Amino acid sequence: MSDVQPLSAQSPEDRAPGRPLAGGIEAGGTKFVCLVGSGPDHIVAETRFPTTTPAETLGRAIAFFAPYVGPGGLAALGLACFGPVDLNEASPTYGHITTTPKPGWAHSDMVGPFRRALGLPVAFESDVNAAAMGEYYWVADNRRCSPLVYFTVGTGIGGGIVLAGKPVHGLVHPEAGHVRLPHDWQVDPFPGVCPYHGDCFEGLASGPAMRARWGCPAEELPAEHPAWDLEAAYMALAMANVICTLSPQRIVLGGGVMQQGHLLPMVRQKVAQVLNGYIQSPALLAQMDAYIVPPALGQRSGVLGALALAQQACSAPPCPDRRRPG
Ligand code: ADP
Ligand code: ZN
Repeated sequence: MSDVQPLSAQSPEDRAPGRPLAGGIEAGGTKFVCLVGSGPDHIVAETRFPTTTPAETLGRAIAFFAPYVGPGGLAALGLACFGPVDLNEASPTYGHITTTPKPGWAHSDMVGPFRRALGLPVAFESDVNAAAMGEYYWVADNRRCSPLVYFTVGTGIGGGIVLAGKPVHGLVHPEAGHVRLPHDWQVDPFPGVCPYHGDCFEGLASGPAMRARWGCPAEELPAEHPAWDLEAAYMALAMANVICTLSPQRIVLGGGVMQQGHLLPMVRQKVAQVLNGYIQSPALLAQMDAYIVPPALGQRSGVLGALALAQQACSAPPCPDRRRPG
């Protein structure tokens, strides 16, 4: 994996009027992506490096941002984090990862080290809520789509939601990758790989599930392999669930498995079959291609969502409904 990658010769001073310079971090279980900029059109610096131990990885991220701290420099940081994470600002473990099975990272304080080392406000969000925010905030055509749902189908499956311009928080945060799906054991005797649920959506349809079921990584399965029909079927069931529950105006599907270009049209077609004409909306009939879409920001939805949240954090007072009594 490469180290520092300056993307352009833009300087911090060239930023768009009204948009402060901020930092975005996508903290993933495999790699971290960090950038400094004021928007997708103005990125001053970007780096990515592997996720090792918390001390080493967070130290590397802090060292990347440190030169940009000071007068005229970063106004805030946004941190899009793998999880589950604690987003409740009233909680003693706010800003921590909670129960990840990733060795060494459970209960890690993610926000504290950045605040202490850099002295900046830090907006903290789940990785997929941040990716949903990135797609909503920076993509003009998505701004009229509320709720907007973003799924990543990769090492895990996660689903994030932006409603009325804000990532959805509740009891914790959405965990739409762990919904339960009808599982026909005759057709698919595979038990699933989720350590908590076995055959939840992630257990049946993540990249590791495909690898375990078929004996080779998803990227090596040819387009005509029956794996893809089954994958599209599980994805369509999950999309139908979220369509019936939230009535999203747009669904964005990202993550490594979605890089198979033939998969998205299959998912669209099967969503229409699963819903079976019950929900009457042009989006689900003639306009399905514009309803379930790939990420407009490519692989940068999460880190650019973190940047958007950082900018919001320094321009708006903390939202009262994020706080809970006690
Ligand atoms: P992560 O979820 O760790 O951030 P990815 O979104 O790239 O990273 O997901 C990795 C998973 O996606 C792996 O299980 C891998 O097999 C699968 N994957 C990655 N690239 C492709 C591809 N081009 N086609 C199909 N599957 C892919
Ligand atoms: Zn699960």
